[in-house]
Formats: sequence, structure tokens, C-alpha cells
Amino acid sequence: MIGVLADTAQSSVVAEFFELFKTSWEFYREGPHYDALICSNAEPPRSSAKLVLIYGVGPKLFDRENGIEIRSLRSNSVISYEDRQIPIYGNCLTFEGPATHGLIDESDQASVAVEIAADGQTFVRIGFDLFGEIRRLLTRGQPPAHAAIPALELHIALLRDLITGCAIPLVEIPPLPFGYSFIVCLTHDVDHWGIRNHKFDHTMFGFLYRALIGSVINFCRGRKSLRQVAVNWMAAFSLPFVHLGLAKDFWNDLDRYLEIEKGLTSTFFLIPSKGEPGQDAGGRQPSRRAARYQISEIMPQVNRLLSDGREIGLHGIDAWRDTTKARAECERIRQITGASEIGVRMHWLFFDEKSPTALEKAGFSYDSTIGYNETVGYRAGTTQAFRPLEVERLLELPMHVMDTALFYPSYLDLSPKQARAVVKPFIENATRFGGVLTVNWHDRSLAPERLWDDFYVELIEDLKSRGAWFPTASQAVSWFRKRRSAVIESVICEGDSVRVKVSIDHPDAALPGLRLRVHKPPARSNAGPNFVDIEFNNSAEFVV
Ligand SMILES: [Zn+2]
Repeated sequence: MIGVLADTAQSSVVAEFFELFKTSWEFYREGPHYDALICSNAEPPRSSAKLVLIYGVGPKLFDRENGIEIRSLRSNSVISYEDRQIPIYGNCLTFEGPATHGLIDESDQASVAVEIAADGQTFVRIGFDLFGEIRRLLTRGQPPAHAAIPALELHIALLRDLITGCAIPLVEIPPLPFGYSFIVCLTHDVDHWGIRNHKFDHTMFGFLYRALIGSVINFCRGRKSLRQVAVNWMAAFSLPFVHLGLAKDFWNDLDRYLEIEKGLTSTFFLIPSKGEPGQDAGGRQPSRRAARYQISEIMPQVNRLLSDGREIGLHGIDAWRDTTKARAECERIRQITGASEIGVRMHWLFFDEKSPTALEKAGFSYDSTIGYNETVGYRAGTTQAFRPLEVERLLELPMHVMDTALFYPSYLDLSPKQARAVVKPFIENATRFGGVLTVNWHDRSLAPERLWDDFYVELIEDLKSRGAWFPTASQAVSWFRKRRSAVIESVICEGDSVRVKVSIDHPDAALPGLRLRVHKPPARSNAGPNFVDIEFNNSAEFVV
């Protein structure tokens, strides 16, 4: 059991951190024995804990009493941890003396953590505010410069390593559905639904330019094949016939998604009402944001998606800023799908700090807007669905990889080969940390002039070959709820074995099972990770 001594102002962030770490913990009380004690911005009390971690940047009596000398106080540091970097957004202290666990400030190699051993106890002084960092990640998020770093998962990994490195048995429920190596949510923002909806507007002229001229430029840059140029020219020349109804509208061919994703599921976020630009953060109404279709106009296709096991969610217009509008937009989707749990991703990823509250009040089950327009990455630093700190039930399913961020000239502007190299670490992180990789491929991205289908097909094949589970966004969120409902009731060490009692309040048997992971102290000090995974779906007791 971990005891956490923290200010009451940090209670909600501490609780959410441990929903994501999902190990056995409680707020510190005088009396009980803790294997590990975390003191967040607090002096360590007298305790029997084998490991005492003292996080924080304020002056500590502990430092003076133990001869710990502060070397520097910086903001916006990046620290090294094994082969990884962790950005620190608040202040960060460095100390004189050798670093423990190789934790150093990248700028001057100074120690960010120092260790003191005394009377069978290990004290580690760490020069940043852990829960301040987690709060920052779950609220403001990371700037695009650090988008590739799963900072929150690294804070969890560091804490886990500190505990298991002290030969303390640790029990956790990792974000890994039993039988799978990680979760993939394939999602589609449906912005256009048909080029026939666009007559002599910026979208149509933009398409013609990109298909006729942009394709040739991209051919010269080695980014489009001759075949793709030909396909785009054919599409451009067929446009008058599309408008006359004599040729197929190549932008509303969702069957291609069903074909590529055969045997898998995915989530389509659809626009509730056409012609509405909504408002941006400055109160402006950007006319280009208005869609030319609405969900009620494409009911045959919606029913086809639903009968194929796809999820329909809301591609929200004003839901992010106004509870009344959020309720109305949610209701449009509910009337059509009849689903009890409705999810949302905002068009153009509009969002602010009040959005989770507005969306929760409107009755949404989850949001999947937290991501970047301009790059791919971990805005909240995590591979997991999390509960924004200001709400009770709504979960955030972060969005990680978006097609337009990879390929748009004004964003990353990558070739397919470069894009593969950029996406690869995200797949490796999913394999290492578990959780979910959320992919957003827009409705018209398989069609001319984008033709981003080869990349998407390869990506799915790669993810399949790595043993991922492909639920709808709503199913993924339900699995995270199932995990959140689990409680590690007790962990008792009996000689070499560990007796663990778990309970679960949301045992949905249709969802993959949870994984109980028991880390036992290694037999030799230089042995690698030593853990056992057990599947569980109901309240139970295990001896490992
Ligand atoms: Zn959109």
C-alpha cells in the first residue's frame, strides 16, 4: 500500500493520478504501515515506510537536516529518465551530488533526484511537484513541442520503478485489456459528406486546385504516384457529371471504410445541423466552419453504419461552449441512434477549460477532442481515457493521430515514409504503456484528392499484427470505466507469495477482462522485471 501525504487542494488530481496508475493507495493517515510513502510538497512524517518519496520544489527542513544542497531552481526543464525525456512544466530543483535512477536535468546534467538511506529506509528527494505536473497535463496539456512525449505515463513508470526498485511488491491493474496488447480506436470526423454539397465554394475550388495542380507538384516531390495523379485528374474532370447526378460522388463513399475496416469497428462523428459555423473562442463565426450536410439528411448511410456495428457520435459545433446547445446537439444524435451513451468530438477541435463541464451537463458520456490540429501527439501526456478534474462522470478519450496533421502542407507536411516514422513511436508507446491509440481519419481522406488510403490500410495492418483490440470509442470508454470500477481491496504478503483481493463494480462480461499485475521482488538484484498477469472479470481473491 502506498500512502500519499498531499495538500487537500491536490486531492482530486491525486485521486485521478491513481485511477490511471491503478495501484493500491490511500491518503496518508497516522498509524497504518505503508510500504511506500509519497510526500507531495510536505515534510516526511516519522514512518516505517521502506521507501519515502519527497516530491516538491519548496524549501524543506528535510533537506537541511540531511545535508541536501540545492544547486539550481529552473522552470520549463526537461529531465532525462533512462532513455526518455520528461518535460517539467512547473519549477524544478536540481541538487548537488549523484543522481538516483539517472534522473538529471538535460541542460546541465545536474541531479533532479537524490537518495538517502537511513535505518533500513530509503528516502528519495525529487525536485519537482508530481501532482502539479499531472494537473497541468490534465488541464492545460502540453505544447506541440512536447507532443510526442507521453509525459503522464512516464511519471507513472518512474514511480513504479522507484517502488519496485526498492524490492517492494506492487500490485496494479494496467490499462491493458486481457488478451490484447493495447487498444486502438479508429475514428472518422465526417466534415463534408459529398462534394456535390459544394458548388462554386472554397471547398470545390480548393479541391480542383489540389487535384489538378497540387497532385502534379506532389508527384514532382515524390509524394504522389503517377497513378494517383491520374485518379485525381479523372475525379476533377468528372466533377460536372457528379453535380449533374451522372457520376458517383467520390466524397461520400463510406463503403470503402467498411471494406478496409472489415472485421473491426470504428466511430463516425457526424454534424448535427448544416449551415452553422458556431462560434470560436473570440465570439466570431468562421463561415468556413459551417458544414453543408447534417446527420438527418443521410439516414440510409447512418443506418448502414449502425447495422454494421459502427458507432455514431456527435461532431459538435457549439457544444464545447454552451450547455444548452450541447444538450440540443446531443439530443439530435440520441434521437437517431437511440444510444444511451453518446460521445462527441468537436469540429476543428474547439475546446476550452469549461468544455468538460458543459459536455457533462448536456449528458455526454465521453469527449474525444483533446489532441492537436497541427501535429500528432499526447496533448494530455497520456495513452489513457481520463476524467477531467472538474467533472464527475465524463471521460476524455484523447485523440493522438490525425491524418490532416500528418499530411497537410500547413501542418507536418510529411511524405508517407516520413509519416510512418512519425507514427511508429506512438505504436511502440502503446505497446509499452498500454492504453489506447486514437486515430482520426476524415471522411474524404481515402478519396481524391487526398488518396491517403494506402497509408491507412498499412497502419491498420500493422496495428492488427501487434495484437490490438479495436473497439468503438464508446466501447473503449466502457472498458476504462470497468477498470475504474475495480478496487484492489487488500494486498497481503505471505512469505514468497502475495494474496490479493480485488472487487469490481462494473463487470460487463461483453468487454475484455481486466489484468491484475503482481510485481514481486526479483530473486536477484540485477534481474529484470518480474511480474505475473492474471485475468479477472469479477470480484475475487488470488494468491500469486
Ligand atoms: Zn471537423
